[in-house]
Amino acid sequence: MIKGMSATRDTAQAADLLTWYDRHARELPWRVSPAARAAGVRPDPYRVWMSEIMLQQTTVAAVKSYFEAFTTRWPTVSDLAAAEDADVMAAWAGLGYYARARNLLKCARAVADEHGGVFPQTLEGLRALPGVGPYTAAAVAAIAFDLPETVVDGNVERVMARLHDEHMPLPQSKPVLTGYAAALTSQGRPGDYAQAVMDLGATICTPRNPACGLCPWRTACAAWDRGTQAELPKKAPKKRKPTRHGIAYLVKRVDGAWLLERRPDSGLLGGMLGWPGSDWSEEAPADAPPIRAEWKTLNAEARHTFTHFHLRLTVKTALVPMERRPERGEFVEAEVFDAGDLPTVMRKAFALTTG
Ligand code: SF4
Repeated sequence: MIKGMSATRDTAQAADLLTWYDRHARELPWRVSPAARAAGVRPDPYRVWMSEIMLQQTTVAAVKSYFEAFTTRWPTVSDLAAAEDADVMAAWAGLGYYARARNLLKCARAVADEHGGVFPQTLEGLRALPGVGPYTAAAVAAIAFDLPETVVDGNVERVMARLHDEHMPLPQSKPVLTGYAAALTSQGRPGDYAQAVMDLGATICTPRNPACGLCPWRTACAAWDRGTQAELPKKAPKKRKPTRHGIAYLVKRVDGAWLLERRPDSGLLGGMLGWPGSDWSEEAPADAPPIRAEWKTLNAEARHTFTHFHLRLTVKTALVPMERRPERGEFVEAEVFDAGDLPTVMRKAFALTTG
């Protein structure tokens, strides 16, 4: 254990995990290492909060470069609050789940306007911020402010199910697993502990082939004792995702400008720039071109899977003269157009035109 840190109020199990974390903590751009924390370095709540929002539904590997780009461009919550919506949405493009980007801005503005640019330091205060759910509030409270809150994500659920050989399927078992996690939460080093359980789940107690031989909790682990790790956590069978169909219209003007349309704020990909298109539905989509043109339908479809459905987009392309006016959307000049600013599904449609 790191000198100066006491875990005397913690269970032996929490202390074992913290000892492991002191040696094996992952180095992450938003993290204060256990040694630095012991030396008195405090995490920046802005960076902790941003990392937690970005990590929802997204892997650490995918988040790192976005996190670096955001915190370099907007180093404080007040900088982010003052950013243009379109710049933030474009910087978020490719990270997915775009409601998170809109909430990121709303929350930054609430912290800047209502809290003088300082994040609230209580669970309730954090919970009251826009886009901050129970998980994010607990994570920021524990990691940024060292409050003994229980942080339960998918990693922690898996570890708890195995530790207790819990066979009740998710999501039904969530309250039980949360109870197990709460009983173990460190009172002495809650911030390090929250990150330690996440690291254990991400690097040792992995979904497939957990490295039980290296696990600091092996002797206490009921699943290891009974050899049931591979079956846990049990999950209720998933509903089959439906397939929706749509049309994307990729219109180029003779000078190289592209016709783009900003999607409505509410709904999927809300507020993002994209190709004008039809509705996405399980029936054949109605053809509703955004401009008068000679259309060419590409042989290949753009395919993408969202949380609740698969999407197949028919891609139609057209080249139009300078004077042609669109019924929807606006032309974006070739020098400013960057396919990288578009959401992934829109990039896939674009790639079909260049491939
Ligand atoms: S012993 Fe294995 S199954 Fe149990 S918590 Fe550790 S890694 Fe997970």
